[in-house]
Amino acid sequence: METAVRLEGVTKTYGAVKAVDGLSLNVPKGAIFGFIGPNGSGKTTTLRMILHILYPDSGAIEVLGSTSRRAANDRIGYLPEERGLYRKMTVRRVLCYYGGLKGMRQRDARAEADAWLERLGLATWADRKVEALSKGMQQKVQFIAAILNRPELLVLDEPFSGLDPVNLEALREVMLELKRRGATVIFSTHDMTKAEELSDTICMIFRGRKVLDGTLGEIQARYGTDTVRVKVSGGPGALAGLARNVRDLGQLQEVRFEGDPQEFLRKLLERGRVEHFEVGKPSLHDIFLRIAGDGGDRP
Ligand code: ATP
Repeated sequence: METAVRLEGVTKTYGAVKAVDGLSLNVPKGAIFGFIGPNGSGKTTTLRMILHILYPDSGAIEVLGSTSRRAANDRIGYLPEERGLYRKMTVRRVLCYYGGLKGMRQRDARAEADAWLERLGLATWADRKVEALSKGMQQKVQFIAAILNRPELLVLDEPFSGLDPVNLEALREVMLELKRRGATVIFSTHDMTKAEELSDTICMIFRGRKVLDGTLGEIQARYGTDTVRVKVSGGPGALAGLARNVRDLGQLQEVRFEGDPQEFLRKLLERGRVEHFEVGKPSLHDIFLRIAGDGGDRP
């Protein structure tokens, strides 16, 4: 399988903090790669190194077949975590400016910008100054700036944060469309549902180290089918003493245990009425909590 991005033993420190610690990963060409991890685990630092905005202390990074900074620039699109567009420029001008930075001819940049503004419901804002747009609208404009040059590699740092459900859906559709066109998409997120839905490959880092890497199916298989969702007539109290790891979801309780689910069901039935019993794969959300549950924040 062809690789779009390859990291080999990459380490980056800020003073005493090891932000990224011996990280190796492969992003397959044409895949959507979901990058997850608690706050401060090193996602943004890694993405910035992939973009050659930051340099690793040690290790190797290869992007679209090249290790040099400039070589791949025009083939990459980037939505940074810290959003910021020139507030006094009009939306169309700002997009044409970004297109120019990526080597696009102004005519092409303008045509592409107008098409995306139309598609994402911003056509009537093209001649307004950026400062007149809401935060979510500005984020959409910045997303358009990242994809204007039809990048082969798109790097999106928390693209979903702060968007309403309609815009979330629009962004998701565009990401899938870019993938269909052959682009590779790397995105970081705290939204586990989006990571599950979109990612061909998921990578989780924790304290700068890789702790998960693979398809959702592979990751779930590693964590076994030891999650049971139940509803019992006595509520969560009826589970007392039967299982240690009970998470109250409200209408259902989620129980994690080692052993035979059928045995667990038999014990539950001895206690009363079982209204719901579902043996399931652990969600990415659960797996994340298991790994990072003791606090992802650094001291
Ligand atoms: P979040 O999910 O909160 O955005 P993240 O996974 O993107 O977090 P990074 O922003 O890469 O994490 O930060 C990793 C670690 O490096 C953190 O401990 C952070 O405090 C530290 N760090 C990041 N940038 C700098 C910097 N410029 N100077 C010093 N420390 C930094």
